[in-house]
Amino acid sequence: MTHGDAVGLVSLVGAGPGDPGLLTLLGRERLRRADLVVYDRLINPVLLQEVRPEAERVFVGKEAGAQAMPQAEIARALIDGARAGKAVVRLKGGDPFVFGRGGEEAEALAAAGVPFEVVPGVGSAVAAPAYAGIPVTHREIASSFVVVTGHEDASKTGSAIDWEAIARGPDTIACLMARRTLAAVCERLIAHGRPPDTPAALVERGTTPQQRVVEAPLARLPAAADAAGLAAPAVLIVGQVVSLRAKLRWFDQRPLFGKRVLITRTRTQASEMARCLVREGAEPIEFPAIEIEARPSAATAAAVADLAAGRYDWAILTSANGVDQLFDALDRAGHDSRALGGVRVAAIGQATAGALARRGIRADVVPTRYVAEELLLTLADHRLEGARVLLARADGARTVLPQGLRGRGATVDDVVFYVSRRPATADSAVVARLEAGEIDIATFTASSTVQGCVELLDGRTELLERPFVACIGPVTAATARELGLRVDVVSEEHTIPGLVHALKDAFGKVTSHA
Ligand code: SAH
Repeated sequence: MTHGDAVGLVSLVGAGPGDPGLLTLLGRERLRRADLVVYDRLINPVLLQEVRPEAERVFVGKEAGAQAMPQAEIARALIDGARAGKAVVRLKGGDPFVFGRGGEEAEALAAAGVPFEVVPGVGSAVAAPAYAGIPVTHREIASSFVVVTGHEDASKTGSAIDWEAIARGPDTIACLMARRTLAAVCERLIAHGRPPDTPAALVERGTTPQQRVVEAPLARLPAAADAAGLAAPAVLIVGQVVSLRAKLRWFDQRPLFGKRVLITRTRTQASEMARCLVREGAEPIEFPAIEIEARPSAATAAAVADLAAGRYDWAILTSANGVDQLFDALDRAGHDSRALGGVRVAAIGQATAGALARRGIRADVVPTRYVAEELLLTLADHRLEGARVLLARADGARTVLPQGLRGRGATVDDVVFYVSRRPATADSAVVARLEAGEIDIATFTASSTVQGCVELLDGRTELLERPFVACIGPVTAATARELGLRVDVVSEEHTIPGLVHALKDAFGKVTSHA
């Protein structure tokens, strides 16, 4: 979206505190149209998936050991980008104008005459306590709060911060960048009159599946935080409101909170599941065990031509991938969804029906349970004698369906539109986490994902002994058992939300699984 000679707009966008769902709608819109994105540490990498692949991404944060890009250089990059006509997003953690040096960057832009805007974000000063069950104000116990930096060493003389006013004035104190200086900050507050027994909490990595909270009276918090090994980023909260956490704790009590969940479906299909899991406080870990590859052939070309010519009575789709591949094949042959205009359409599974619906096709028949046998039962009411049926499927699919249909007198073209195969290499970082026993749950959404996963692990099924194993349906579960896995849960509804629901149920009952 480059606009010739015109100077581009720089958007200072708040990315929120960690949970990707806390990005604002305007922030997302700006990320989607950006030509250049300049981002910090503490930005959830999931947010960068919103950025167009061809857009430029520049990381300016501090990696362990390395130096952050100097502020003047960041400003330079923003100004140069805008002058080159680019839509520039400066993505900053939390809110850009709360301790993010967003003010300085805006000043540099204003001085350079570059147009800019500020898209506020959800700041960690309020969001981290909120996810810990701590409201920063409350009608009865807190009617004011302050946000202060702990970065400046509280023990140094000549501090720019009026610690006395902060200790005595506001009911609630939120202190950012205070991990390293925690002891000094707490001492200062007590020295200036905040009672040592004031409830206090440190919230580490608030709003994320890694959130940890330590609560203690103000005087004892530094020792308690050290004992628990809490690290940055963390927010210190001081005030009576902290005592409400006992009643209002919600996020870190969800059944799937903090659970590390392996997703074995294809990279492109993983995101829906990852989103569902993140909403439950779980940490999705992608480990694609299958890849989809189109298989254009004389058979697919003939099937597509016959479909467009109205020579089929039925088209049967058994997966969302099958729908995608059929429509790609139609497109390559110069056709579109009208090719399905005169044909009756059956879909196995809600995901398959959904993929059809997105193409404007409402399936005539969707069995209530999502297995081939159930489709045959559902089709029992329909006359299939002499009918011509197109079955658009993956290589190596089960033969139950074509056999059953032929048994009923139909002529079946069982056409392979794609192959699902194992990726060439396994992500070694994920294998290492399996070896270290760090994965809590492994999910399988098709037989092929179980087979692929076991192959990627070189047959080491013992790595799948510790994780709780969840399968989307009975066919997938049977494959898992055949390959020697223990199956802990099979979802009743064979969909992604159904699978996540089954996991919530299982973990709500058994809170710990060794
Ligand atoms: N502009 C940001 C703050 C940047 S300063 C905002 O509005 O949130 C960085 C500090 O923010 C960290 O040292 C920490 O105190 C706090 N912080 C950011 N993300 C956090 C998180 N997820 N949990 C706890 N503290 C966080």
